[in-house]
Amino acid sequence: MVTNRELFERARRVIPGGVNSPVRSFRSVGGTPYFVARAEGPYVWDVEGRRYIDYVQSYGPGILGHAHPAVTEAVVKAAADGTSYGAPTEREVLLAETLCDRVPGMDWTRLTSSGTEAAMAAIRLARGATGRTKIIKFAGCYHGHSDGLLAAGGSGVANQGLADSAGVTPGAVADTVVAPYNQIPTVDDDVAAVVVEPVAANMGVVAPISGFLEGLRAACDEAGALLVFDEVITGFRLAPGGATEWFGVAPDLWCFGKVVGGGLPIGVFGGRDNLMEHLAPLGGVYQAGTLSGNPLATAAGLATLEQLTPDTYRSLADTAARLADGMTAAASGVGVACIVPRVGSLLGVFFCSDIPTDFDQAKVAAENGVYPRVFHALLEAGVAFAPGPYEALFPSLAHTDDHIDTTVEAFAAALEN
Ligand SMILES: *Cc1c(COP(=O)(O)O)cnc(C)c1O
Repeated sequence: MVTNRELFERARRVIPGGVNSPVRSFRSVGGTPYFVARAEGPYVWDVEGRRYIDYVQSYGPGILGHAHPAVTEAVVKAAADGTSYGAPTEREVLLAETLCDRVPGMDWTRLTSSGTEAAMAAIRLARGATGRTKIIKFAGCYHGHSDGLLAAGGSGVANQGLADSAGVTPGAVADTVVAPYNQIPTVDDDVAAVVVEPVAANMGVVAPISGFLEGLRAACDEAGALLVFDEVITGFRLAPGGATEWFGVAPDLWCFGKVVGGGLPIGVFGGRDNLMEHLAPLGGVYQAGTLSGNPLATAAGLATLEQLTPDTYRSLADTAARLADGMTAAASGVGVACIVPRVGSLLGVFFCSDIPTDFDQAKVAAENGVYPRVFHALLEAGVAFAPGPYEALFPSLAHTDDHIDTTVEAFAAALEN
């Protein structure tokens, strides 16, 4: 039987750091990553046969849990008809109709192959449509790894301890202004767009304080700038209509990914028709993709969205609340400072006593050394949290009360160590 250690050693000989996305390397928690052999429902099994209750769920796409039969069946069926054509398909129309139907105010969408591409294209569109250059983003918000959006990104960028990235030229970020989350920045009339995670979920989970999203909407309207919601995590997770429905604030442009691809590579950006018409072939803003609207990804996305009814959102939020309440009680039981911020089914964990509201505060809590210890104790007990303190926890519809209670017991034991 192959071991995690052997695979990691082989991987590091042919893949930088042994991984295809940095956070997976365990660098910020130490140790050897587990290599996944298979997954089902709330569980992943590693190559050594160890089973974990999985809260990574591919960092969000696994809202139904792994290998949901409806998704698997849809993908297998689609694959048998060919995996990519370079011509339009009915499923792309169905998916766009479903998305526009669920998200209030979104008229048109275009599909990409990742959230990174969706955010990158939304920014290009905002610049093309407004004829302006500057964008404002918030420290600790992650919008994928395109050059102009890598300034002060959270998530994997933060895990690596990089302020931004080598290889990004000063020119590429010269028009990116970085502001603190939860404060309304000054929006001048050279600003094309303000881009924000409506609930920040890449610096741990940091909710918008009351009035923040409304204030951004007003500041953008005042300046004639566009508001872009990066809903790659919140979209189709908080509610059928994502953050727009949850908070009652509508942006001009939306970015989606993760849940909407049901575990296959996808991204989506969308907006009002009079903005989206600036895109080629109708307008002058170019954007394209060989695999965009891929038959397998659209099949998985449609099958996933079909399962997500208002009832399932209620039940997922209940599951997340049970986990959050259990973890909070467990920590207070053993006298460990711990905050479990939660918005609907989206939750995170900070080991501190005051709830962080921006990246500076989140960093202090994330870097105090508690997380790696708790992470490894949980992993030993068969519970997989993300291997980095800046990631959210993703309970799925496959996590039952029993899974949650087992997790909470393991969490209590981990804190006592
Ligand atoms: C994951 C993520 C992205 C990037 O999506 P990829 O599919 O990894 O390229 C962008 N924005 C947010 C908010 C994300 O969480």
